[in-house]
Amino acid sequence: MNIILFGPPGSGKGTQAKMMAGYLNNKHISTGDILREAQEKKTEMGQKASEYIKAGLLVPDKIVNSIIIEAIEKYKKKGFMLDGFPRNIFQAEFLASCIPIDKVVYINVPEEEILKRLSKRFSCKKCGRVYNKEGICSECQGELYIREDDKPVTIKKRIEVYQNEIQKILEYYTSKGLIKEIDGVGTPDEIFERIKTAL
Ligand code: AMP
Repeated sequence: MNIILFGPPGSGKGTQAKMMAGYLNNKHISTGDILREAQEKKTEMGQKASEYIKAGLLVPDKIVNSIIIEAIEKYKKKGFMLDGFPRNIFQAEFLASCIPIDKVVYINVPEEEILKRLSKRFSCKKCGRVYNKEGICSECQGELYIREDDKPVTIKKRIEVYQNEIQKILEYYTSKGLIKEIDGVGTPDEIFERIKTAL
């Protein structure tokens, strides 16, 4: 199964994509994780993407599409959970031209809740898992840190960018009959159960 997990920043899509990929035995593909790794390694792509990520803006389609082509080529046999892609209608159309998608799970979370979550989010440097307090990652013992795009001004910008694109993406996948909407308020386990039921 090729599934997209779609939702605002802070909706828990990364956490759920990891859980679902374990459950379905397919591959979790996160464009955000791939870009952060490229930034960390200071590759040419990472350096180009950096200024956009820091500003809370979308990295140009050309860069993220090339990440997607490579990842799909690698994991198309296994199937995947896409997290963070597509983020605009052009990316959605590009994806459709590469591979069929079976379902799109839309994790709906109100804006006040997103702001609350992102303003106290600590992420693992190694595996990307998120926590709501400082410490080390209970899964891989990696160091927890505040992502540079989880600072208040950037959070606002990211939500604005998301709001500008969401309607078109929802309409696009609704017209294809692929959308399953999930209430994203609750514990990770509760949301995981809702996604399994919906799929
Ligand atoms: P995420 O970890 O999914 O919240 O992504 C972090 C940042 O990476 C985003 O705010 C964007 O700057 C960039 N990014 C991730 N995925 C995409 C995408 N599909 N298109 C453009 N930019 C992206």
